[in-house]
Amino acid sequence: MELNNYEIIIGLEIHCQLKTKSKLFCSCPAEFEREPNINVCPVCLGFPGTLPVLNKRAIELALKLALALNCEINRKSSFARKHYFYPDLPKGYQITQYKEPLAYNGYLLIDNKKIRIRRVHLEEDSGKLIHTPKETLIDFNRAGVPLVEIVTEPDFRSPKEVTSFIEKLRTILIYLDISDADMEKGNLRCEPNISLRYNNLSSERREIKNLNSIKNVYQALEYEIEYQKNLLEKGERIERATLLWNEKERRTEIMRAKEEEEDYRYFPEPDLPSLIIDEEEILKIKEEIKELPEERKNRLIREYNLKEEFAEIIIKDKYLCDYYEDLMKLVKDKNLATNWLINEVLRVLNEKKIKINEFPLKITELATFLNLLSENKIPRGKVKEKFYQLAEKKIKIEDILKTTEIKQEKGSFTQITFSDIEKVIEEVLAQEKEVVEKYKKGKKGVIGYLIGEVVKKLEGKVDPREIREEIIKILEKD
Ligand SMILES: [Zn+2]
Repeated sequence: MELNNYEIIIGLEIHCQLKTKSKLFCSCPAEFEREPNINVCPVCLGFPGTLPVLNKRAIELALKLALALNCEINRKSSFARKHYFYPDLPKGYQITQYKEPLAYNGYLLIDNKKIRIRRVHLEEDSGKLIHTPKETLIDFNRAGVPLVEIVTEPDFRSPKEVTSFIEKLRTILIYLDISDADMEKGNLRCEPNISLRYNNLSSERREIKNLNSIKNVYQALEYEIEYQKNLLEKGERIERATLLWNEKERRTEIMRAKEEEEDYRYFPEPDLPSLIIDEEEILKIKEEIKELPEERKNRLIREYNLKEEFAEIIIKDKYLCDYYEDLMKLVKDKNLATNWLINEVLRVLNEKKIKINEFPLKITELATFLNLLSENKIPRGKVKEKFYQLAEKKIKIEDILKTTEIKQEKGSFTQITFSDIEKVIEEVLAQEKEVVEKYKKGKKGVIGYLIGEVVKKLEGKVDPREIREEIIKILEKD
């Protein structure tokens, strides 16, 4: 039997570390990437007779997230003990929220599809085991660091929807400034659970742990879909299990048969009172939530006449977005600057695998460069070369300014602007429809003819290499 119309059912559990100064129930610093076992005290080491005290800041940050995820806030929520025995858990239980979570019933839109959020709650992190070939070491710096857990309904129908959700959530966390949300550093952890349904046949949920990048989430889910589909086709049963993703061999492996909830023997935490949130608190937090990514995207489109596809790219990174808006205040030709940022600056970031805050050109420097460019004060054909030299710190913007002054005196500049070139290229492409067709069908060699036509019209004043790049950019876009 071959399964065709099977349905993929995926839900997500996400743990996210909150950016607080201290831990959730004691005053130890929440920073844990330090010398091992330095940020510990009797409370987070679980000594008998100690009492937890709830961190107010952690509540505020979790509330911010819950509101951004359109959740209802429980006016009264409570804490519980979740028991399990593992060396990284000093108390023998984890303090979490169980029957009465902080928030519930929210949603997040992914390409206009509603992904329902079942609950958002607070809990403490465990310590960290460090395995060496000889022995296993333990570091309790992380024990008690505040986490917010987000549980979705099983609303995802493809791995792509899952990764879009995680990306969007990560952007929101960074915009709200409540977490660093870095999967590789482990401060954002995703555990998808997946099953397949086919008529009345269905597999048991299998949960995947140990996923430290969005790429791994995607690959692990793709792998599980194939795996479960094959078993269902053979008519075999699929048992509930907790899996690990083996990144090297690109397959999942069973970590343990999944525990049932009763295995944890949850019971109310007797040392913490109920958490009461009043209307005033919620209003205060709502005011603190400034602009979420979606709102910012719409504003950028409105304010800067930005194309939606560009806005999508820019808002994904808050710092890039800040850079863009600051740049817009300084440049004369906003369209030119936008194109330059999207094409050239992002290319440098990708090539060097760096973030915008590591980009060597300051906003003022890039703005000066772009203003010179829009005034045709940089020799045509040298523009990109100069830009890359700047980005690699081989020259300074002052060097360009100097040469510009000299050349201006001599008056040796062609007065052709970027939009002139674009206009001519578009004219040529419109005239040479047949040639363009050939190019699109794979005869890439015909580009030489198109370049020649453009060069003729521009009377040879522009470097053909630059024309080639522009033509390719336009043709590949359609
Ligand atoms: Zn402590």
